[in-house]
Amino acid sequence: MICPFCGSNEDKVIDSRAAEAGKVIRRRRQCTSCDKRFTTYERVEQTSRIAVVKRDGKRVPFDRDNIARGLDAACGKRPVSEDAKQRLVDEVEEELHREFDREVSSQVIGERVMAKLRDLDEVAYIRFASEYHQFKTVDDIMEELKAMTSKPKDVKNQQGLFP
Ligand SMILES: [Zn+2]
Repeated sequence: MICPFCGSNEDKVIDSRAAEAGKVIRRRRQCTSCDKRFTTYERVEQTSRIAVVKRDGKRVPFDRDNIARGLDAACGKRPVSEDAKQRLVDEVEEELHREFDREVSSQVIGERVMAKLRDLDEVAYIRFASEYHQFKTVDDIMEELKAMTSKPKDVKNQQGLFP
């Protein structure tokens, strides 16, 4: 596993335990190069029925790792624990499977992640939102912040706003 701190791919597992009632194996690893510790999670691959409809209309299978990667990028150096990030991805995944039968737009997924991330860490939220919306200027970011703060926190029933 590539060390998130130094990029080395040599590490040793220092702890390994079941989580989420045995559905997940959580491994605590230590980089043999920089000695920093990080956590990985192993789970059975879901044969998800849900397809994600991207902006260009292409459909791809839902992949929770895509969300996790976006979160990791947004949370770099922020005080957001691995557990908190995993929980966020779990929650989004569960919501999507509960509420959508066959397909869901990538916009909806992005909005769900942003709504939860906003409660977790505002800086990470802004980073994620600016990546997601591809903000060009500070004005764009301010506009989005204004829009988000004037919205009610629960975005559940607002899917129609993001066609
Ligand atoms: Zn390292």
